[in-house]
Amino acid sequence: MTRTTQSTTISAPIPAPPRLRVGKLCVAIQAASVAEMMERAEAALKDSRFLELRLDALPKPAAVLPRLKDFLAEHHDVILIATCRRKEHGGNFVGSLSAELEVLQKASESGCKIVDLEVESAEEAKPAQLEQFRTRLHAAGTALLISFHDFVRTGDLNQAAARIEAFQPEFVKVVSTARSLVDNLAILRLIEDRSLSAHVVGIAMGEEGLVSRVLGPRAGAAFTFASSDDGVETAPGQVTVRTLRDMYRVEHLDHATRVFGVAGNPIAHSLSPLMHNTAFRREAVNAVLLPLKVRLLADLLALVRELPLAGVAVTMPLKQEVLPYLANMDPLTGRIGACNTLRTGADGKLYGFNTDVAGILRPLEKRLSLKGARIAVLGAGGAARAAVFGLADRGAEVFVVNRTHEKAVALAKEAKVKALKHEQLPKTHVDVLINSTSCGMRGSKQALPLEENELNAGLVFDLVYNPLETPLLKLAAKRGIPVVSGMEMFVHQGARQFEIWTGKPAPEADMLRVVELALRKRG
Ligand code: NAP
Repeated sequence: MTRTTQSTTISAPIPAPPRLRVGKLCVAIQAASVAEMMERAEAALKDSRFLELRLDALPKPAAVLPRLKDFLAEHHDVILIATCRRKEHGGNFVGSLSAELEVLQKASESGCKIVDLEVESAEEAKPAQLEQFRTRLHAAGTALLISFHDFVRTGDLNQAAARIEAFQPEFVKVVSTARSLVDNLAILRLIEDRSLSAHVVGIAMGEEGLVSRVLGPRAGAAFTFASSDDGVETAPGQVTVRTLRDMYRVEHLDHATRVFGVAGNPIAHSLSPLMHNTAFRREAVNAVLLPLKVRLLADLLALVRELPLAGVAVTMPLKQEVLPYLANMDPLTGRIGACNTLRTGADGKLYGFNTDVAGILRPLEKRLSLKGARIAVLGAGGAARAAVFGLADRGAEVFVVNRTHEKAVALAKEAKVKALKHEQLPKTHVDVLINSTSCGMRGSKQALPLEENELNAGLVFDLVYNPLETPLLKLAAKRGIPVVSGMEMFVHQGARQFEIWTGKPAPEADMLRVVELALRKRG
């Protein structure tokens, strides 16, 4: 076989590149010592038989090589990628190019089936040196992966890919840094365009790049990288193999998969991905929901159009910002002036809904009839608006109470209900007291939205759900007053979203179970 590289033609026969079948999830492992690296590799096998070892994380990368032979002898089906990235290219290896090539070649001889060489090293190597390296890799049955990394931004990815392709490696890996959601589109486009002619891996690092990590294989990427656990990521934005496999079902996504998002900033701790992906799985809906860190609404709208997104759960501060972009919304959403759910119609237009209303009404309707019920709503912000308009719509007698009384008066006037001064609370018995202030939220300065002796209600509903047992719920329980947790609102607003998006009843019990478990873990 004759191979032509940049400037030299080498006519010596070289072994054919190996044909490899690799999984879609490669677990990247780094450790500060050989023992720890092998321990982590062993532990990772329960989740994946495809691992990358970051040899450059070791003080002496070559020290691990003898252990690899034993490891692979014991685990025949495991495929290892060896990486020894030099410091000047974003890794930790302080050796020369020759030293890097030597470590990688020995890793290949130890049984690693893929070695990762940075494109800068490939370009720095003399053509003959690189060909000799490649020949030896192929003789050992190892494939060459050449990688490009941009640790700052997502620039011209085609140029990056072309630099790699000049060396005709078996795998082309392009990694950039996402500064905004739209950078994912650039990565996914690169994968789609190039994966017909090459094995491509494309990833945008950083929190905003999650979309590329999850949807890369669906776009045609050979595989994507994952961490073995939280806290041991080898790159910014990497998520655990269990999250990619169990929550996002990366191995099962296909072109028919409908993609949804939960948009906001911050968004990393949202429980919507867990709740909705559980529901999709339970109901066998071919869909996935991803957290989208949105800095600019325009970025989200670009994703809706181009990914495309089938629907979005919208959190603050986007609930109001998104209104001018809706083709239509239901009348109650219009009156509330906030939309937490988007559905993309077959016409590509956006339709808006406010499912916070269902989140508040449904748990209450399970417990009492709302018509004529006396209900005090504490707060006059976004959540309070959903409560007040929704309850008034059901014929409840609503009293709005807010720290800034003028806001309560304005909201009450808009919704045609009553405003109440805070000091009137103790002598006004209500069937339900709803806390829609942020008091009691983890990190909030004020624990209770009212004094202990001001509580005069038959039922207390705290919309705050982090923590699960808020100071207000504890106080009510101590008084023997039945309580409803904000977690119920969260699950019911999500259930309504599920219905809007899929047209199916939501598996509420499963959604509640996973959300409650996650909240209890958070403490
Ligand atoms: P928001 O628009 O910022 O409104 C906050 C409200 O809390 C305002 O009325 C504010 O009064 C009041 N407030 C803040 N600090 C206070 C204090 N120290 N004492 C008395 N009142 C205070 O927030 P939001 O979006 O409506 O959210 C409110 C709460 O609802 C949040 O804690 C959120 O976690 C919860 N929520 C839960 C769900 C769910 O699914 N369970 C959904 C949405 C929201 P001023 O007008 O005087 O500033």
